[in-house]
Amino acid sequence: MKIGILGGGQLALMMIESIKDEDIDFIVVDPNDNPPASKVAKCVKSDFDDENTLRMISDECDIVTIDFENVPSSSLEFLEKKIIVHPNSHAVEICQDRLKEKMLFQECGISVTDFKKIDSLEDLNDISDQFPEDSILKSRFFGYDGKNQVSLKSYSKEEAFTKCGSKNLILEKKVDFARELSIIGSRQQTGETVFFPLIENIHSDGILNHSIAPYVDMNLQNIAESYHRKLTDKMNYVGILVVEFFLTNENKLLANEMAPRVHNSGHWTIEGANVSQFEAHIRTIANLPIERIKINGFSIMINILSKIPKTLLTELSENERFHDYGKKDRANRKLAHITINHSDKSFLLKRLKEIKSFI
Ligand code: ADP
Ligand code: MG
Repeated sequence: MKIGILGGGQLALMMIESIKDEDIDFIVVDPNDNPPASKVAKCVKSDFDDENTLRMISDECDIVTIDFENVPSSSLEFLEKKIIVHPNSHAVEICQDRLKEKMLFQECGISVTDFKKIDSLEDLNDISDQFPEDSILKSRFFGYDGKNQVSLKSYSKEEAFTKCGSKNLILEKKVDFARELSIIGSRQQTGETVFFPLIENIHSDGILNHSIAPYVDMNLQNIAESYHRKLTDKMNYVGILVVEFFLTNENKLLANEMAPRVHNSGHWTIEGANVSQFEAHIRTIANLPIERIKINGFSIMINILSKIPKTLLTELSENERFHDYGKKDRANRKLAHITINHSDKSFLLKRLKEIKSFI
């Protein structure tokens, strides 16, 4: 079997590395030179909408998936006419647009923070009076790691409008959340979903800093799973979908956004679970069976951004696993992560503090 992956970043790298015993070959498409996944699979340098490349992929592969959610949905539609594509183009199109995403959450009975569509500076001037001063203006498209979003508290409306880099925006009420949580589930071709436990995510400046799993609350776990099921049923989704939530001070889940792919908050599953999110996704789209998910105690995943400290490896013990994506240094770029497992969550928090002091 051959699987094509559109996008050759660290997510593709970890998906490919997760498959050891099955007879699956991979081919990756990426517009950049030497992306992380090119270390482990044949990589074609091409834009995602290049028709020759898409034709080659449809000729060579049995199934296509993505590591990058902003692949043009028209490219996925093109491929869908010829081969199997998971997740489907329609689902990816929804996840690319914060407005469609929020409307789907509401359709599924999932609460979200107050929001309004903004298409012009006039809209922003008219509508922002109905919103608190610290509301957040976000681009509907191409936002990640806190990019293309600003707090109205920090900028004038004109500046905020320009900084979002687009005319297609939404204005969101800031949530005074107690925590941020995510649920990762892989919906099988049968419609059943394999779930990982809830994960707590700590962001700084809009970028994931570290994740701790599991976040143990059976009631919230059941609610998050039921929301995930509603969304994936509605989108006829196959594969891993991740939903990010705010947990309010009243212990209520508000959906923030979702990702139609494996997710940074699930990297701990490589060491922390019997099946990683990466393996679960590939096995799901390849229609291979997946064992029931079991986890090993608590896990923490710490992102390393911008630059990898030279002394890092000497500071880590043998079972503190370092994953280097082989990318060049750049401010706020995700270059690597560390995962640590332990039966005692307080041990992980202590190590977090120690490790954070030198990265
Ligand atoms: P991205 O696609 O960049 O991850 P998010 O909408 O998830 O975009 O925003 C990144 C982070 O910024 C969130 O994880 C959260 O910490 C903060 N944030 C975003 N929107 C809100 C909001 N409405 N209220 C409070 N915090 C927010
Ligand atoms: Mg996010």
